[in-house]
Amino acid sequence: MTQALESLTHPQTQTRTPETAATFTGLRCKECGAEYEAKALHVCELCFGPLEVMYDYSTLSQVVTRKRIEAGPKSIWRYRPFLPVTSDTPIDVGTGMTPLLKANRLARRLGIKNLYIKNDAVNMPTLSFKDRVVSVALTRAQELGFTTVSCASTGNLANSTAAIAAHAGLDCCVFIPADLEAGKVLGTLIYSPTVMAVQGNYDQVNRLCSEVANTHGWGFVNINLRPYYSEGSKTLGFEVAEQLGWQLPDHIVAPLASGSLFGKIYKGFNEFVKVGLVEEKAVRFSGAQAEGCSPIAQAFEEGRDFVTPVKPNTIAKSIAIGNPADGVYALDIARKTNGNIEAVNDTEIVEGIKLLAETEGIFTETAGGTTIAVLKKLVEAGKIDPDETTVAYITGNGLKTQEAVQGVIGEPLTIDPKLDSFERALDRARTLERLDWQQTLV
Ligand SMILES: *Cc1c(COP(=O)(O)O)cnc(C)c1O
Ligand SMILES: [Zn+2]
Repeated sequence: MTQALESLTHPQTQTRTPETAATFTGLRCKECGAEYEAKALHVCELCFGPLEVMYDYSTLSQVVTRKRIEAGPKSIWRYRPFLPVTSDTPIDVGTGMTPLLKANRLARRLGIKNLYIKNDAVNMPTLSFKDRVVSVALTRAQELGFTTVSCASTGNLANSTAAIAAHAGLDCCVFIPADLEAGKVLGTLIYSPTVMAVQGNYDQVNRLCSEVANTHGWGFVNINLRPYYSEGSKTLGFEVAEQLGWQLPDHIVAPLASGSLFGKIYKGFNEFVKVGLVEEKAVRFSGAQAEGCSPIAQAFEEGRDFVTPVKPNTIAKSIAIGNPADGVYALDIARKTNGNIEAVNDTEIVEGIKLLAETEGIFTETAGGTTIAVLKKLVEAGKIDPDETTVAYITGNGLKTQEAVQGVIGEPLTIDPKLDSFERALDRARTLERLDWQQTLV
């Protein structure tokens, strides 16, 4: 194909402009500062600290403007200069730019005024925020020459990796704990990857995967590609800032599993300030965990600066990481921003799922129920000011964790295909509703 024809049929593969040149410069150890080339590396050879992507912020401030971002694709790739890929044609399956919803009915119910829901329950293609990190990781995996991709997953990551690998034509083998929800397993198998259901918890799955990564030369999105993968979560910070009209909120509430997402929302906000896209603001960061797996919340409560691993036992399986890799960084962010980290029990999580559904029409999974329940707890404890512009991050979809709400929601009224049968059922339903209502009064 000639050059001219090529750029006609693929308008996005034109010559390199400053916006599409590489803006990241390599990897740096978060602990000792040692620098490395941008390869498939994730731990420092000197101190075993985690590696993070470095950017050239002076180039970034020259190439990014609000206008250019607004004119970009309706996906995470509108922020491409802030993401660690060099490709002009990243894997774009429509990930990102999910709704930021003003949640007035939920706010009123809780007793606050300015509440927003960032709704990644409808993220593309697999209905969780993990599509963001995987879109970035698999684009980088291709650039680094990997042909097989893999992950250690609590469920959503396996869905995402399998789906986006299918789209990109990459071989895929994912590892999950054997006891995951049916929807999460089915939502992986449909893309025909190899699925290893490990008889153990996530932390054991993760340990096994670290060994496989060393021997098989695969690209593990959350292990040897972790520095690139985790950067994808910054887009949850970028989008909220853009959707609020290029300003930062006062307070955010987000779920914590490894703690990575939490830290990257923080990094995303700070980068927007650094390059002059938004004004500086002291945003408070509050984290949500399930009581049955709350090592970070426990450390926060006890004033510790280290996280003691726990054995998970909760219905919130997607955030059940007993030994969180970025736990200490999450603790530090919550403390220095005057935020909080709270835990709620499984009953409160289910109530959180129902509350969000009934007030806002959003059906979230257990992780989202955890976030809403913690939001409620923080408001009740006076730890969120009613006037603060607060954003709650909903990270996954309720259709994947139907087990959690089975038996605690109503049932359909079965009727004959006759008008009088319908009328009788409607009367019965109204009477029940009235009784319900009277009960809430006493
Ligand atoms: C993975 C996951 C999280 C948290 O991810 P971390 O970055 O590991 O803290 C939150 N919510 C859902 C639904 C997830 O799948
Ligand atoms: Zn180091």
